Amino acid sequence: MFKKRLYTPGPTPVPEDVMMRMAEPIIHHRSAEFNELFTRVNENLKYLFQTKQPVLTLTCSGTGGVESTIVSLFSPGDVVVAVNGGKFGERWVEMPKVFGLKSVELKVEWGKAPGADQLRDLLHANPTAKAVYLTHSETSTGTATDVRLLAEVIHRHSDALVCVDGITAIGAHEFRFDEWGIDVCVTGSQKGLMIPPGLAFVALSAKAIGRMRASTLPKFYFDLGKALAAYEKNDTPWTPAASLIIGVDVALQKIRREGIENIWRRHERMAYGLRDGIRALGLKLFSDQPSFAVTPVVVPSGIEWKSFNKILKLKYGITVAGGQGDYTGKIFRISHLGYYDELDIVTVLAALERTLAECGHTCEPGAGVQAAQKYFISHQG
Ligand SMILES: *Cc1c(COP(=O)(O)O)cnc(C)c1O
Repeated sequence: MFKKRLYTPGPTPVPEDVMMRMAEPIIHHRSAEFNELFTRVNENLKYLFQTKQPVLTLTCSGTGGVESTIVSLFSPGDVVVAVNGGKFGERWVEMPKVFGLKSVELKVEWGKAPGADQLRDLLHANPTAKAVYLTHSETSTGTATDVRLLAEVIHRHSDALVCVDGITAIGAHEFRFDEWGIDVCVTGSQKGLMIPPGLAFVALSAKAIGRMRASTLPKFYFDLGKALAAYEKNDTPWTPAASLIIGVDVALQKIRREGIENIWRRHERMAYGLRDGIRALGLKLFSDQPSFAVTPVVVPSGIEWKSFNKILKLKYGITVAGGQGDYTGKIFRISHLGYYDELDIVTVLAALERTLAECGHTCEPGAGVQAAQKYFISHQG
């Protein structure tokens, strides 16, 4: 192995110019220089989420961002609906319970997307629901949810806040916070934002901010009220992970230069090209509605995942993500979220072909690469 190549849905590869900027001497977070930088970050985050509403930057991982919304928006006994179609959805069912909320679970089979009818019926059965938590791209199964459609259903049938775990969707899937009537959306730094782990970003609608004022759950560090008051002065209540904010400033400027719509299109093209390549290798996709951020693949019968992964990693330097929970050893997931292009897709397919051949899975050499190239050539952007 000569080069390491990372294809995991968090952390994701960090662009060279972002790394270079983060390596410069640290600056103080209470300074005019930092304030100017953070003001620009805050503006560019609005662009990323397609909103005029505040997007708060917290020093924690994505899960901390979701926890901040639970403790800041609700009160003991509140009913919260959460869609559980994988490891992350499961987390959003468990988390509210810890804080004394009533969690109502909408269980979805792994690899399937939640349906509008299912959600509507659940909302009718739980008319006091204060929020619905949706996972836009369920990373554990590589499955996308139609957030725009479900947000409409939620608003039509309830007064619940539409809360979106956008942690692997932001920067890969079309997402329009204001236009789609989203109330809360969380993402993390080590996903589509292309910087190392350590920051979470939380967008809040006016309705969510109103609910925040009425919340009685205990909170201190994760109090979004404090974060919002500081945000209004382009400041943070506590010491922020300044190096990461410096990194995200560069990353957001890259995003603006490319254009968010072009970024969504790039992810869609990479996903389609990879899917064609996967099928041409005689492999099966796992999900009914695969994500544009991460492609889930069924481990073919007769292949032992552990030895397959070992060859892929040690011989070809490729790190992909394995299956989680019941799907350990049954599926694997190839991420193309953030700093990836079409040639990265060709590369991972080439490595898969070589590894499959070494594991005794017969396929025509070049078949996967050819199918992806055909897709990319016939669908030039
Ligand atoms: C990565 C991820 C999370 C968890 O974020 P952490 O940063 O690990 O806390 C939550 N939801 C989804 C969909 C994710 O992909």
